[in-house]
Amino acid sequence: MKKGILFIVSGPSGVGKGTVSKALLEGSNGKMVFSVSATTRSPRPGEVHGREYFFVSDDEFNRMIDEGEFIEYMKVFGRNNYGTPRKYVEEQLNMGHDVLLDIDVNGAMKVKENCPEAVAIMLAPPSMKELRRRLETRGTEEQPVIERRLAEAKTELSRMGEYDYVVVNDDLDSAIEKCRMILETSKSTPQYCSDFVDALIAEDF
Ligand code: ADP
Ligand code: 5GP
Repeated sequence: MKKGILFIVSGPSGVGKGTVSKALLEGSNGKMVFSVSATTRSPRPGEVHGREYFFVSDDEFNRMIDEGEFIEYMKVFGRNNYGTPRKYVEEQLNMGHDVLLDIDVNGAMKVKENCPEAVAIMLAPPSMKELRRRLETRGTEEQPVIERRLAEAKTELSRMGEYDYVVVNDDLDSAIEKCRMILETSKSTPQYCSDFVDALIAEDF
């Protein structure tokens, strides 16, 4: 069976990673699954343990680090910890499912180091004013947290060159469609097809 693709979506807070990811997952007919990270931050209204995140205590997070349960983990925004659980991602890829990771820039590059065939997309906002508007309209963070996240945005975007693709999330449907096309195109690279072609070459006529 063909292994799935690791699909990384990064970008500044409020750019639309969650929105785009949800659409990609819903449109995948079960072919793509979301890698639910562990975090020490508190749930936002409407967030469900095990769906958006595994909301864990500092102690539990540290235990997971000690037991080597993360592919990568990171302190983001100097406050909360976030980590990608290894077991689920590996299981799903081996089952042939594509796995979507919504993780920050440092985490994304750590994953790319270990898994160079992963496909990484940087989502960018159409403008900084629009990024602020989205964060403020979402209304899930206090103003100081919003300001801190906006201050991070330029640093994050400046690392665009480390990504495979950049998608501007202006019109939502266009951004979703571009991500879908990138995913499909990534399955036609020699790197991704090498196992199949090697087996093909070994076949008898
Ligand atoms: P992130 O996961 O990157 O922090 P969200 O997906 O939570 O961002 O989106 C932040 C806010 O912006 C949400 O209120 C969402 O509905 C809105 N949003 C996302 N994409 C677009 C878009 N293309 N145009 C307008 N609003 C958007
Ligand atoms: P939020 O608190 O808004 O859900 O996420 C804050 C930031 O943490 C986002 O940039 C998001 O992509 C990142 N993030 C979420 N999960 C992980 C993870 O497991 N690892 C890393 N490195 N970053 C993560």
